[in-house]
Amino acid sequence: MIPPIANNFVAGETADSAVSHVESLNHDGIAGILNLLGEHYSNRQEADADADAYVSLVRQLGATNLDGCVSVKPSQIGLDVSDTAFRENLDRIVDAAADDDVFVWVDMEDYTTTDVTLDAVDDLGHRTDGNVGVCVQANLKRTPDDLARLADVPGKVRLVKGAYNEPASVAHKQKSKVDEVYRDLLEYMFTEFDDGVAVGSHDPSMIAHARDMHDQYGTPYEVQMLMGVRDDAQRDLADADIEMWQYVPYGDKWFQYFYRRVRERKENALFALRAVTGL
Ligand code: FAD
Repeated sequence: MIPPIANNFVAGETADSAVSHVESLNHDGIAGILNLLGEHYSNRQEADADADAYVSLVRQLGATNLDGCVSVKPSQIGLDVSDTAFRENLDRIVDAAADDDVFVWVDMEDYTTTDVTLDAVDDLGHRTDGNVGVCVQANLKRTPDDLARLADVPGKVRLVKGAYNEPASVAHKQKSKVDEVYRDLLEYMFTEFDDGVAVGSHDPSMIAHARDMHDQYGTPYEVQMLMGVRDDAQRDLADADIEMWQYVPYGDKWFQYFYRRVRERKENALFALRAVTGL
């Protein structure tokens, strides 16, 4: 049972609870991106089990009229086992999702996984005529080249700042530099990406920049934020008719994820402390 404080960031342990969270988000004009928590499985059985769970999740979502999709981590569905395990599992999730008209995002993990992830998305984006999207990270020095490649791949691309502590040989380490690159890459995407731009950020200045780019170039865009982070801003953006998607983690591996969310911001830590102590 998930304690109420963690429920701010995680939509329960089961697919049913996650889908019903999407239902309530939809009432506020926000769509949901469901992510079953789990990563870095080193045996195939665990990776196959989570891929099975995604196949049944896309079927469940497809049977509803909800605005929802899924987002999958490569190491959750076999990348740490082998490239083949990853591809076999991703293929069957994407095939099931295409049958049920449910969009599949592929999260991006550390820089050692970028090539294999982009190769898979390139292939599947063409095969499904764009029913697949991928995340790219502004902190990686390679990302401008990756975006140039992705501009010719059907599907959507989510731009984030990057969550992994990468070596300086491959990544920008200064926050101000990552912010500067993020802005430049957004501008590139608004000029080159006909299928639209996904702004994966809570940063008000990046969202304002995206809005300006949209006004200038007319390219469609969506904003994506995590469940429990700037929830009021998410509703305000949806009220302002900006396409808003909330990334909704769920599943029994919630503790580590919740702990990360609490640690990354002082406000969250204080909030958690108050909830526990009643102060
Ligand atoms: P930051 O640079 O952390 O903060 C900038 C400003 O945003 C802050 O000053 C504040 O005004 C506001 N803000 C940020 N966080 C909070 C908060 N908790 N509460 C209130 N205000 C806040 N990373 C990957 O490497 N791979 C992925 O696949 C991936 N997928 C993601 C999917 C989504 C939908 C999102 C939102 C993020 C994803 N990330 C992913 C994480 C991302 O790389 C960043 O680490 C994370 O989003 C923090 O950067 P930021 O742009 O939100 O803002």
